[in-house]
Amino acid sequence: MNLFLALQSADAALKRRAMAKAITLLESTRPDHRLAADDLLTELLPLSGRSLRLGISGVPGVGKSTFIEALGLYLIARGHRVAVLAVDPSSSVSGGSILGDKTRMEQLSMDERAYIRPSPSSGTLGGVAEKTREAMLVCEAAGHDIVIVETVGVGQSETAVAGMTDMYVLLQLPNAGDDLQAIKKGVMELADLVAINKADLDVNAATRAQAQITSSLRLLGFHGHEEAQAQWHPRVLQLSALKAQGLDGFWAAVSEFRDLGRANGRFAEKRRQQATAWMWDRIQAGLKQEFAADAAVRQALGPTMDQVLQGQLAASTAARRLLSLFAQRNSGDKHA
Ligand code: GDP
Repeated sequence: MNLFLALQSADAALKRRAMAKAITLLESTRPDHRLAADDLLTELLPLSGRSLRLGISGVPGVGKSTFIEALGLYLIARGHRVAVLAVDPSSSVSGGSILGDKTRMEQLSMDERAYIRPSPSSGTLGGVAEKTREAMLVCEAAGHDIVIVETVGVGQSETAVAGMTDMYVLLQLPNAGDDLQAIKKGVMELADLVAINKADLDVNAATRAQAQITSSLRLLGFHGHEEAQAQWHPRVLQLSALKAQGLDGFWAAVSEFRDLGRANGRFAEKRRQQATAWMWDRIQAGLKQEFAADAAVRQALGPTMDQVLQGQLAASTAARRLLSLFAQRNSGDKHA
């Protein structure tokens, strides 16, 4: 059976195998696989896009796995089908994964209404994120109506995940409010919802953190350029992932965000912006790669760089020369 049909199959085991196979195909670097993967994506596209895409981040140890498992079980009990994907660039840089191995979320992973896939492990953050974004389309086409994309609170991966999801949630520890330095301002600005996890450990600290983060979110003047009515204001909630407490409140907030975004058009607009930004991001990455691999550029790069370092050539002039060399080669290629 072909992959496209297998992804729609009513046979859960067959469908799951097809998802794994499709995602492996997307992750492959072989040119012929890439062509097949692009054909598959084009076929899948009309069936994708119908899920709620939820980004979740937080530092290692904050409780992401515990929370996603609890939330996933909560959602499948309410008739949803959940997919969990991850963006963990550390797994390619250091060879070790911050997000851990496949034994995480054991209970959720055994349920056929859930699909869990670890982070792709090769390439740059952009490359890893691209594979995850494509895997999301596969999960949607296979009927998963909630796609959770998890990432760690280190590096730039939060921005990448916020750029591929409808709603971005930041998990925090109860002591986070005491040390606002620990919360990167840029990340806070991305958050549609902040959840203080491990509230069971110290309710007072969690409540304090909730108040402090709420007021710092106000100070940031989030989304201030939008018109005042029908606008979402980022919220701060408390949770205990371990005790599965606070899930009702969490899901009510997510649902409210989704309903509001659908009503005011923000939801669709965000996806259009994301698709455009994504396309340009990938064009830039592709050009950069081709530039770096170009034989003439590689030959000229060393001497040109030396001239820059010795103060004989302005950096911008050097860049223009190399770019025009690259452009000439490419226009030459067409006639070859
Ligand atoms: P991750 O690195 O963000 O995925 O964090 P984990 O989900 O692996 O959790 C790290 C540790 O915190 C584990 O020992 C969990 O059992 C514990 N933990 C997670 N959530 C809670 C919580 O709500 N309360 C308490 N007390 N511990 C938690």
